[in-house]
Formats: sequence, structure tokens, C-alpha cells
Amino acid sequence: MRRGLSHAWRHTLSVNIIPRSSWGAKPWNGTPNSVGLSERTEFYIHYDGGTPVNRTGNWVPKAIEREHLANGWAGVGYNFVVDQNGSIYEGRGWNLQGAHCPGHNRSAIGVQIAIGGDQAPSDAALRSARALYDEACAKTGRQLSKHGHRDGFATECPGGRLYAWVKAGMPTPGGGGGDTVALDPVVKPGANHPQVRLLQELLIKAGYGPIPGAVTDFYGVNTQAAVARFHDRHPEFKSAGVSRDVAIGGRGFAALQKEAGR
Ligand SMILES: [Zn+2]
Repeated sequence: MRRGLSHAWRHTLSVNIIPRSSWGAKPWNGTPNSVGLSERTEFYIHYDGGTPVNRTGNWVPKAIEREHLANGWAGVGYNFVVDQNGSIYEGRGWNLQGAHCPGHNRSAIGVQIAIGGDQAPSDAALRSARALYDEACAKTGRQLSKHGHRDGFATECPGGRLYAWVKAGMPTPGGGGGDTVALDPVVKPGANHPQVRLLQELLIKAGYGPIPGAVTDFYGVNTQAAVARFHDRHPEFKSAGVSRDVAIGGRGFAALQKEAGR
């Protein structure tokens, strides 16, 4: 689904994550494998299961931890857990292999939204899950594909409501931020930054390629040429008084995401 541009793109994408040390996680049972951000290409949404979850707070990750340790796993198998208050708890985090969907535990960031059955996810929970998705895209410099657990495994998970939300593109409830990734102000011609990868992918997808050498972190002359082509088609996003604008701006970056069908 194509969504309208949000009125405000955020300058920073940082999301507030409650670390394992703060929610009282037990030490890992063994040592989970590390996974580089460069391996992450997918984002998987889960739910808790068949029974509604009527508690929030540290109880939520602790209950999951108990269950996953009993499975013989290292600890919470999801990368992150989100409760109905929108609090985000660290599980495997950004850099450890998950245990949430066979065949996708290295390639995917797995997030459990702590509801069950036909329970409705709160807006706060959906906002936090979407913020995690945007953060994951910013960190990896690419658009991760969006999935429910059932896309990768024969399961009811993540339930009908969450699955429909995933298939709708994981929209932020009520809009107002989170729909588009904000341009990091350091992303300028000549810069080396992971977000340049996303810029290049969007430019290519929207038809402003080719970008020889892409995709890389480097905002070189070929990326600049593609940005200039974008500005030729959309002079409203050009800097004033510049005939050939090779620097993407915040508004242009947001519009490019829409044009590329992000
Ligand atoms: Zn699942």
C-alpha cells in the first residue's frame, strides 16, 4: 500500500529500547551467534500465541524468557519484544542471531508484539514496532522486507489482526511520523554513510539509475548524477538558485521514498 507523506520526518530515528540489564534478563544460556547488520534483509512480526496477554512491563519479556529457556534456547528468541504500552524490550537486539523463525533467524529482525488470540494491538504497540522497523532500515541502509511469521513457517502467528497490518505495509496509526525515514543531515555529496545505500536503492527503484558502483555507503559522482536527475524531474525539491542540484534534501528524500513505493 502506498501511504501519504507524513507531515514530519524525524531528524533522528533513535527508538527507546529497554536493555536486557534493565528488565532483569537472566544471563544467556550459552552464547548466541553474532550477525552483522549487512546480513539483515527482512523484518518479521510475531504475536504471543493463542491467549490474550493482559499484562505489560518487565513481566512480558520475563515470561517469554522462561518459555524460551525451557525450550533449551539461549534466552528470549526475538530480537525485540513490544508490549501494549509501546515499551520495547531488548531480546537478541540488533547484533545477535534470533530464534523465532527457522531459516530466517540471521536474515530477519524478529519482533514479538505481546498480544494473543484475536486481541487488538494498541496504537502504542504498533507505533513502536513501526519505529523499530524504521530504525532497522536506517541501521542497515536498506528497506527490509516486511513479513508475518506465517510467511516463513506454517503457523497462525502473528494472528489475523497483526498479519493484516503487516500486509498493509505496517502503517503508523494515525500517521504523523514514522512513515518515512528521515534524512540524516550528514548524508551529503562525498559522504560515507550507511543511509547512502537506501538513497541509492530508492533512486534506482524510482528510475533515476543506473548508479555504477551502487550500492555502497559512498555518495560519489554517480549517486550525485542520479540525484540531479531526480531534481530535474522535481524542481520543487531543488535548492534555490542551483541549476544542477546533486544534494538530496530532507523533503526530496521523503518524496523519493513515496515515489519508490516505500
Ligand atoms: Zn511467531
